[in-house]
Amino acid sequence: MKYVLDTHTHTIASGHAYSTIDEMAKAASERNLEVLAITEHAPKMPGSCQEIYFSNLKVVAREKFGVQLLFGVELNIMDYNGTVDLSEHLLKQMELVIASMHTPCVPHGTIEQNMSAFIGAMKNPYVNIIGHPDDGKYPVNYEELVLAAKEHHKLLEVNNNSLMPHSFRENARENDITMLQYCKKYQVPVVVGSDAHYVDYVGRHQEAYAIFEEIDFPERLVANADKELLYSFLTNK
Ligand SMILES: [Zn+2]
Ligand SMILES: [Zn+2]
Repeated sequence: MKYVLDTHTHTIASGHAYSTIDEMAKAASERNLEVLAITEHAPKMPGSCQEIYFSNLKVVAREKFGVQLLFGVELNIMDYNGTVDLSEHLLKQMELVIASMHTPCVPHGTIEQNMSAFIGAMKNPYVNIIGHPDDGKYPVNYEELVLAAKEHHKLLEVNNNSLMPHSFRENARENDITMLQYCKKYQVPVVVGSDAHYVDYVGRHQEAYAIFEEIDFPERLVANADKELLYSFLTNK
């Protein structure tokens, strides 16, 4: 199986990540990725870049070291309606948009509250990917989540960072397996993101891929294997 893209990474601009765009792109090239998305945390994450950062991304080359770069954002879902923290005129310019729930930005809700938050974000036409829905700190109903992703044409992320020993997310492995079983049942694609906050982790997906093998998850439902499958979820761009 050949995987060619990483849809979720952060550079120094995110405030708690430690490599530059060029360092990340070079690493992606060395690891044979064809596409790398740089998705800085949106402004409500403490220490992250402000709107002006997202407004000037046109100055950056879209190809480096033979890797296609997509410049996007990881939005913070701010409430249980799915409100996000970047203005619409900037969202329109983003090449890939993840929406996630983060402890500094929204309280850990009940299943009902978290589902309402995620579904609210899925109704946002600019959102392409739901970030780390594996985090047990924000419990969800995985069957409903998968069906909602199908209905609203969004990708669900399998976040490799959640599966690392240093992760502060809860129950990720178990939750990913549950989610993937429903994705298999309802034929809903997923995408693996490294969520790299340092160059060493660019393209690091092996923990997620090991789960795919373990549960015999079909390759045709993995957007990392097929650029065109990913792009079919970015059609609002
Ligand atoms: Zn995140
Ligand atoms: Zn992230």
